[in-house]
Amino acid sequence: MKGTSIPNLFEEGNSLYTLTKFGKPVYGERIVIRNSRMYREFSPLRSKLSSSIKLGFKPEFREEDHLLYLGASTGTTASHICDILSEGEIYAVEFSPVSMIKLSELAKSRENLIPLLLDASKPEQYGPFIDRVDIIYQDIAQPNQIDIFLKNAKYYSPKRGIIMYKSYSMRSDAELKNELNKLKKYFKNISMKNIERYHKGHYAIFVSNY
Ligand code: SAM
Repeated sequence: MKGTSIPNLFEEGNSLYTLTKFGKPVYGERIVIRNSRMYREFSPLRSKLSSSIKLGFKPEFREEDHLLYLGASTGTTASHICDILSEGEIYAVEFSPVSMIKLSELAKSRENLIPLLLDASKPEQYGPFIDRVDIIYQDIAQPNQIDIFLKNAKYYSPKRGIIMYKSYSMRSDAELKNELNKLKKYFKNISMKNIERYHKGHYAIFVSNY
């Protein structure tokens, strides 16, 4: 296993792995043991975060970061972020009660995962459960997802953000430009990666305020 610039994230051969304390798979992922340590395979086909890293993105994560996750679903990617931010907190917002059943089950073993059955377009509703937000991670595939992201950014003032942006084929390039311009008004740095190779119609957008 070879370390990377991201805490608790390793590479071996062509695959990415997160170092974990848990020997039970969350969604059927492979678990390997090296030098008595356990690693969970982090597949780019299962996670947009993994695919953006595979395609060269080096997200800035610190082990102690507090991350607000909008659209956590059943916790596939969130479970790996729990491994990465081993000293931090993940506030996982999800509005589907069906997905929440699995996410809550996962949170029983992950003490840094706080599941919140709420609507990501109403950030004030989860304010009481959150002490600070260093990063917002959003993956909600909604036509107004950038507006929702900005609403959360204005409410929680994170320094960094990662958006898994779904471009709808009926929309024009001008629309993507328009959405990026909205982000530019609020964030100093913006970069983007096309992750279409692994996730159809998706871009990973990275923003920071320093
Ligand atoms: N991020 C997940 C992962 O990688 O494991 C997959 C997320 S899935 C593509 C999108 C999720 O966003 C769905 O579970 C959906 O219910 C949720 N979602 C969409 N709009 C939402 C909203 N306004 N508030 C909360 N969750 C939302």
